[in-house]
Amino acid sequence: MIKRDLSWFSDWWSATEPLRSRPAAAVLVTGPAHSGLGEFCLELAAADLCETPLADGSACGGCPSCGWVSQGQHPDLRWVRSDANQEDDQAGSPEGESELAVGAEEAGAAGSTDKKASRDIRIEQIRGLATFAQVSSHRGGRRYVVLGPAADLNFAAANALLKTLEEPADGLRFILFADRLEGLPKTILSRCRRQHLHLPSSLVGQQYAKASQVAQWLVPLLAQADRADPMAWAQTAGKADVRQVLEHCQLWLLDLQRVSRGLAPRSFDAQTADLVRQSQLLGRLNTGSLQLNYRLSALQEMTRSADHPLNPRLVFESIFGHLHRVFHA
Ligand SMILES: [Zn+2]
Repeated sequence: MIKRDLSWFSDWWSATEPLRSRPAAAVLVTGPAHSGLGEFCLELAAADLCETPLADGSACGGCPSCGWVSQGQHPDLRWVRSDANQEDDQAGSPEGESELAVGAEEAGAAGSTDKKASRDIRIEQIRGLATFAQVSSHRGGRRYVVLGPAADLNFAAANALLKTLEEPADGLRFILFADRLEGLPKTILSRCRRQHLHLPSSLVGQQYAKASQVAQWLVPLLAQADRADPMAWAQTAGKADVRQVLEHCQLWLLDLQRVSRGLAPRSFDAQTADLVRQSQLLGRLNTGSLQLNYRLSALQEMTRSADHPLNPRLVFESIFGHLHRVFHA
């Protein structure tokens, strides 16, 4: 493999054997967020493009083709992702720092230093694939489009992609990847063969520990959500994991919705009494359930950009502000 520092890639390599031995024109690989899914999908493409694959079928990492893949310059491979995602990656890798610096200087020269990179995969990027789809392979073999996370596709881009998937070009293969499927059109899902990848249980344990750290201080606050001060919450949150906090808040509101409808809570059954009290409070407000729905979708929307907030404090103030306004619209 080209990238060897993620230990679970070898498990995933075995898991994808059926996918590799019976390739499909479009594949959707799903798995946990922040686990290197995109890089793994590149490995799948790189292996097929590799000139001297290893015994297990993985890319050798040493041939010209593998060299181009690792430099992001293979003529038969496109990695389609949001600009923001690409920037995050460059910022996160040591060798990427210099690239990013060059990019920043260029941006400065063009006078657009504060232009924010898009979090969406845009329609122009999908349209750009049309030419790639039409030209024949440079190396006489197959061509690959690796695209994701698929939830970053905006509406227009998803529609354009669907058209491309409906009229597959010869030898062109799509590998889509996603850590969640919400918002992805069923029409796209139905075009793709699916493969789910799990993290080894030791790593899942770490994720769980991270989640329970958040739960420790957040759940008591959620139980008092109708009384708490959003600014004080944001201070308590400090440097907590934004995504985990958002997830807990959404689960709380979903439970509140259930309890308001007379159902049992699903995630916070130990806090049933608080949920009942809050649902009674909501019932006395004119627009209680509307507010609840509205704030819930606002939090869901925030999840899209939760991973690298520039100012976590502001994000937390906004999250807890939404919770507060469920009860004080
Ligand atoms: Zn190779």
